[in-house]
Amino acid sequence: MPELPEVQTIVTALQPKLTGQIIRRVQIRRPDVISPTNTKFHVFITGQKITTISRRGKRIIFQLGTGDQFYIHLGMTGRLTLTTAAPALHTHIIFEIAEYQLHFSDPRRFGGIFCLGKTESPDKGLGPEPLEIRAGELAAALSRTTRAIKNALLDQTVLAGVGNIYADEALFESHIHPLTRSDQLSPVQTSSLTKAIKKVLRRALLHRGSTLRDYRDASGNPGDFQKLHRVYGREGQPCHICKTKIIRITLTGRSAHFCPVCQV
Ligand SMILES: [Zn+2]
Repeated sequence: MPELPEVQTIVTALQPKLTGQIIRRVQIRRPDVISPTNTKFHVFITGQKITTISRRGKRIIFQLGTGDQFYIHLGMTGRLTLTTAAPALHTHIIFEIAEYQLHFSDPRRFGGIFCLGKTESPDKGLGPEPLEIRAGELAAALSRTTRAIKNALLDQTVLAGVGNIYADEALFESHIHPLTRSDQLSPVQTSSLTKAIKKVLRRALLHRGSTLRDYRDASGNPGDFQKLHRVYGREGQPCHICKTKIIRITLTGRSAHFCPVCQV
């Protein structure tokens, strides 16, 4: 699933090309990817100027000249591609913007397009941005839950934009076991975790995100950061620090990868 670094990589690529441009036409091949379901999306956006494209959590937010906003969420398998090629299988929406075509495809359809209008905030349901959060803020949020720290980090109301990959990597970096109760982390651990989250996300941004299976950037290219993962996707391989084999466990339907020696 695309997380903050992957989504930001796409936004950074779209901004210089699409900002200030007019949406000439939209082809809706699958109306059910648009929410709310009764939205007349083509009416809502045709002829509108894109004034800004930004990211909040894992959402890609388009602001239009009218003050209306919508966002795209890539879900598990979504892609947003600037292309002149014929639409790939599972391309649900094609935006024609100036001389560009922007294709939204999503085979598993956990993602979609969400219309906000002029008044609804794209921040709704989202906690702080992980690159901006202070240790005290994270500590306060974690002190309110007894869940395993891995689960708390995936909760978008705690941190907006972190998912499975970067939660595992940040817990390794800060030597915290993924099953540690959130409210039992020491101030030193929370501080170290806050730094680790930022460090891991910044490194992933430099490498244009991670591609395990589905993720591609706005030009259709994979990210590079998966080669530098310390734990995620490395089950059975030796820990880079102590050579112990990395373990994968499942907790409430999600997996966690960690080193049983370095993360106690
Ligand atoms: Zn280790």
